[in-house]
Amino acid sequence: MNLFAAYRLRDIFLLLGTAVIYLIIAQATHHYFSAIGIAQPVVRPQTGFALGVLLVAGKKYWPAVFMGSFISKLMLGFSLFSSLLVTFGLLAGIVSGTWVLTSDKKFDLSITSLNDFFRLIFFAGLTSACVNSLTGAFALLDDPAVNHQIFGNVTLTWWMADTLGIILITPLLLTWSQFPLHWFQKRYFFEMLLFFILSFLAGQIIFLNWYHDLFGLIARGYWMFLFVVWGAARLGFQSVTLVICMTTIQALIGAAAGKGFFATDIEQTQLSNFWFYMLALSVVGMGLASTVNAFKKVEADIRVQAHHDALTGLANRLLLIDRLEQEIAIAKRNNQHLAIIFHDLDKFKPVNDSYGHQMGDLLLKEVAKRLKDCVREVDTVTRIGGDEFVILLPMIEDSQDVIAVAERIHASLLLPFEIKGEIINISTSIGIAMYPEHGQDDTTLLVNADNAMYFAKNSGRNNIQMYSPTTMAKIDRRN
Ligand code: GH3
Ligand code: MG
Repeated sequence: MNLFAAYRLRDIFLLLGTAVIYLIIAQATHHYFSAIGIAQPVVRPQTGFALGVLLVAGKKYWPAVFMGSFISKLMLGFSLFSSLLVTFGLLAGIVSGTWVLTSDKKFDLSITSLNDFFRLIFFAGLTSACVNSLTGAFALLDDPAVNHQIFGNVTLTWWMADTLGIILITPLLLTWSQFPLHWFQKRYFFEMLLFFILSFLAGQIIFLNWYHDLFGLIARGYWMFLFVVWGAARLGFQSVTLVICMTTIQALIGAAAGKGFFATDIEQTQLSNFWFYMLALSVVGMGLASTVNAFKKVEADIRVQAHHDALTGLANRLLLIDRLEQEIAIAKRNNQHLAIIFHDLDKFKPVNDSYGHQMGDLLLKEVAKRLKDCVREVDTVTRIGGDEFVILLPMIEDSQDVIAVAERIHASLLLPFEIKGEIINISTSIGIAMYPEHGQDDTTLLVNADNAMYFAKNSGRNNIQMYSPTTMAKIDRRN
């Protein structure tokens, strides 16, 4: 584990800043719960924060957590020994949680599937919370006020508080490490504003009795579930984690003020109802957001697959036509030329027959690599079928440029291929058509480049032909 990676000056400031944020969260949590008369917090956001920092910024940020926790415990009047013990417990918990999560290569930090979310809760959440609560409760035994008989109870409450802290805060840090820029697109912006204004108002109505005369008699605790579902379905993970965070604060303020949904929860259940409510809200919101993420990823993968050739990874015919249409429009606007180079490998069938289909596939992959190496970044290399490759070259000065590229490709494919220890020699027949000289639209250009290639085949293969209406007229494609 890379716990002692080199620190730069910038890291030192970030470490100190992180330690201060940890300290503020820990102190605020402690003061809130002591003020409302609950001995042990039912949520410890600082644990979720510490785990989030290690996951997002890297394990080398552990000294920030160490400083924050140690100073916080000393400020709360813990002995030096207890402060150290609790701090080591926290570190052991979150470092092991981070290790369990990141050693699983399948875990994606941006939580792109329901599995990632469950991994976060079960692996990191449970590992961190168990280690941390056991050592924390053990350290409390040092305090004469803590009765040994309630050790189990203290550990359980500590575990619950850590688990909720991790479920609420770690995904907040993970999802907000990427800013949701799409919210500022016109089609999301007003919906995003409406979403946050309405969820804030709903929170105030549910937890702080706003507009009590209007909504007093209506059951409204479930409203927040509708908001996390809205956020998950339309605005993405960041909206869910932010609303859950806002709801937590509103619910705790309401409980402390004896108002709204949790008005009596402090006396009656020591905020256990609040704990279950927040757990359920997070699981529903984040579970749905991660499922939506997974669907979007599948959708994006399908879109990529629909436009690419599975064997070589090159663009396919669909994408070629798409790009060709775009490039023709640009060339028309800027009075430029573009070219289509159409290849078909010579006598590829015999290669399959002698070496097997699998070797044929490997050869096609190598051909794709060589073609890509012969062209510029702006050019599109595509495989449109069997052994047919088409290259689109935009922004061409004149026919000499294209012929130079075609010759380079032709020569490159003549060099022997070494595949699985076998040396294979092939050649290629190439046809070229140019815009605007040989066609004004995508179909004509492709047909004419194909005709030129066919002419090259007819002229004995292993050569390059530029389209010309007069010579091509003589070809009979039925041969
Ligand atoms: P020609 O010089 O006239 O082009 O002869 P050819 O043998 O290359 O024949 P043609 O281009 O008409 O046919 C291409 C052959 O490529 C047909 C098929 O056996 C083979 N082929 C098509 N797709 C694949 C593929 O995905 N993998 C492999 N290994 N072979 C393929
Ligand atoms: Mg061929």
